[in-house]
Amino acid sequence: MENLLDGKAVSNHFKKQIAEEVAEMVSNGHRAPHLVAILVGEDGGSKTYVEAKEKACNMVGFKGTVMRYPDTITQVELIAKVKEINVDPEIDGLIVQLPLPKHIDENLVTQTIFPEKDVDGFHDINMGKLAKGDNSGYISATPLGITMLLEYYNIETSGKHAVVVGRSNIVGRPMSILLSNSSKTGNATVTVCHSRTKNLTDICLQADIIVAAVGIPGFVTGDMVKEGAVVIDVGTTRVDDASKKAGWRLRGDVDFETASKRASLITPVPGGVGPMTITGLLNNTLKARKRSL
Ligand code: NAP
Repeated sequence: MENLLDGKAVSNHFKKQIAEEVAEMVSNGHRAPHLVAILVGEDGGSKTYVEAKEKACNMVGFKGTVMRYPDTITQVELIAKVKEINVDPEIDGLIVQLPLPKHIDENLVTQTIFPEKDVDGFHDINMGKLAKGDNSGYISATPLGITMLLEYYNIETSGKHAVVVGRSNIVGRPMSILLSNSSKTGNATVTVCHSRTKNLTDICLQADIIVAAVGIPGFVTGDMVKEGAVVIDVGTTRVDDASKKAGWRLRGDVDFETASKRASLITPVPGGVGPMTITGLLNNTLKARKRSL
């Protein structure tokens, strides 16, 4: 399809660049970047995401370590582990795969990670830097990956009306800030929508760019998309599909069938934002390593 934003291909393009930088780093006698992922429990989705991140690390020459813990781990034990990693000079980036079991305070864990190693960009300091337009912090991997995709395709954002549907701390909110910041992929006029928004269809119809991060499959339909708009689909919900070996497939928040008929450019699910999220994470980890050189 000619109006497809191919996240997979763009991700591979950036991975190649990152791999080249790592090879040069290593040939200059430095160690490769090292990312640690903490995985608690047996959640199938979390396992898949962490494995994909580990594989991507291997592809670009990073060291990727997954630390697995049972869901009986206590908050005190988990926090102690994070603190250990914080001061380990051989580790550049740490991510704790969410969600965590109910007895663990996710925010407390996230805020315990040193901001310098918080390559997921969830720490308040990194969120604060993003809000101030200070590039020295880390930006949450999904919005960062989307920004890289927009830049790769030279999508003009300046002066455009961007509608972000969803205001979560990991996707919607940081995305809306990035689009409104004064930068190459910013300077847009941004409307942030959420579950209390009225007249969502009317608002979406005014959008030159729509970013859908809602978590409801097929939520944004073609009749909500202005002719020629750019549509970025963040959603990844597992829906039953008997024709697939696993018995399920991923479905986005955009009804691709109808929206792709009106959009000038659109991301597919899978193969759109997902691979770019991993690229965003690799980018942040490389940044962390360069910082410590
Ligand atoms: P989230 O924390 O559940 O946030 C969903 C947002 O959607 C909330 O702000 C919510 O509004 C809003 N919303 C819910 N119902 C709505 C409605 N009827 N109208 C308008 N807004 C509505 O989800 P998230 O973490 O941002 O993730 C969103 C989706 O992206 C999920 O499918 C997730 O799996 C996917 N995701 C994909 C990637 C990737 O790499 N591709 C990465 C992260 C997330 P309120 O704030 O008012 O509740």
